[in-house]
Amino acid sequence: MKPQTSNPTSNVTPSNRNSPGVKTAWTVIHSCGHEVLHNLSDRAADRRSGFARWLAGRECTDCWKAARDADTVAKDQWLAARRAEEQAAAVEWAERFDMPPLEGSERALAWGERSRFQLVTAAYTALVSEGTWDEADWAVLEDKIRSISRAGWWIDQRDADGADLPDAATSADVGTENPHR
Ligand SMILES: [Zn+2]
Repeated sequence: MKPQTSNPTSNVTPSNRNSPGVKTAWTVIHSCGHEVLHNLSDRAADRRSGFARWLAGRECTDCWKAARDADTVAKDQWLAARRAEEQAAAVEWAERFDMPPLEGSERALAWGERSRFQLVTAAYTALVSEGTWDEADWAVLEDKIRSISRAGWWIDQRDADGADLPDAATSADVGTENPHR
């Protein structure tokens, strides 16, 4: 028996089952091996056989969706791994620079820690490493930073620019807000 792949056009068969005389439905054997009946009535008649051959070179919709879902799972796992790495770095940093534990819901805590770590390290780079601040200037800001323990405040600042942290920290109303909100 001849293998079906020896002739690409053999993967495509017009089907006249529903409307004799006008080929609108095509049976396509996809690259994944699945045989699917496609209604091509929304395509121009002279384009149908070409489109059916194009389909034959591709996976069927079910296989395509399964592959896409697998990609999504892989991407989610990658994101979770990156987040865990960032979290570990944030915890290590907080310990090293004597940053107080944050207050908030469990989900807000981890997110707040990552946000604080990212913003404060970005601020140090902008103001000290690449800016005009000296360590004494920074120490003043760092004290202020230590007084802001509400995880939600840090989450709200997650998109802030490092250079804007002094203004934001100065206007932070740390004393009157409910830290558990
Ligand atoms: Zn398939």
